[in-house]
Amino acid sequence: MTESPRLPAADWPDMQPGWVWLCGAGPGDPGLVTLHTLNALRQADAIVHDALVAPEVLALARPGAALIPMGKRGGRASPGQAEVTARLIALARAGKRVLRLKGGDPFVFGRGGEEAEDLVRAGVPIRVVPGVSAGIGGLAYAGIPVTHRDVNSAVIFVTGHDATGTRPPLDWPAIARAAPVIVIYMGMKHLAEIATDLMAAGRPGDEPVAIVMNASTPAQRVLETTLSRADADAAEQGIAAPATICIGRAALLRRTLDWLPAAQGAPA
Ligand code: SAH
Repeated sequence: MTESPRLPAADWPDMQPGWVWLCGAGPGDPGLVTLHTLNALRQADAIVHDALVAPEVLALARPGAALIPMGKRGGRASPGQAEVTARLIALARAGKRVLRLKGGDPFVFGRGGEEAEDLVRAGVPIRVVPGVSAGIGGLAYAGIPVTHRDVNSAVIFVTGHDATGTRPPLDWPAIARAAPVIVIYMGMKHLAEIATDLMAAGRPGDEPVAIVMNASTPAQRVLETTLSRADADAAEQGIAAPATICIGRAALLRRTLDWLPAAQGAPA
């Protein structure tokens, strides 16, 4: 396919000057961008994007749009919440059509909810476009169904650290009991402690774990390991952020469902 994708005929909303659209970009593969986000990419004057938004997605922007990188990336110096929202508000008040583009889904562990609150409080009109979140779509690219009737009727999504890099005060014994499958965002930094806490809470050390790094991008890598070995194996294999951790038997399903290599034309 050489042509850029066209929107199918429909009554796509116009971005109005002075509005901010808070959109999900998905985990990387531009094919996982929703049509509403593509519609915004085609219209926005200014695109304020996270570090995690893939270059292939930004390439869908209207020629001439201002691309403004602003967002945190685990550990590195990054603009604070106030700085990001101040910029969004200033652009909106200058009459720009503003796209705030966030990796995955804007309302899942990405501070999108806080940014939206700031904008509403400032009287800036917003629209929200959900996206494919790494904890669901990213795992699917590793052949892992986040629910499966033979494995789990519940899944719990957890963040391994907060905006400051510290571990949030989570009730790990309750999390360990809550669901057979635990999906962890931003979990690499504190993986050793998280695994220790889960094992202390009764999850077995040989429980299957899959860690999906750069899911749905050309740099995707998947580590299959166990709870007790996860941190050491990840360090040894160079598996690091951005990565999503899946703990539980769901991780084993990729042994039959790892569809990506064949879809990319790898020899069977
Ligand atoms: N709003 C995003 C999550 C932001 S928090 C979403 O819905 O996906 C950032 C974390 O998301 C990363 O530390 C990682 O755990 C996960 N993540 C985002 N993109 C990813 C990718 N392409 N592959 C694996 N994990 C990813």
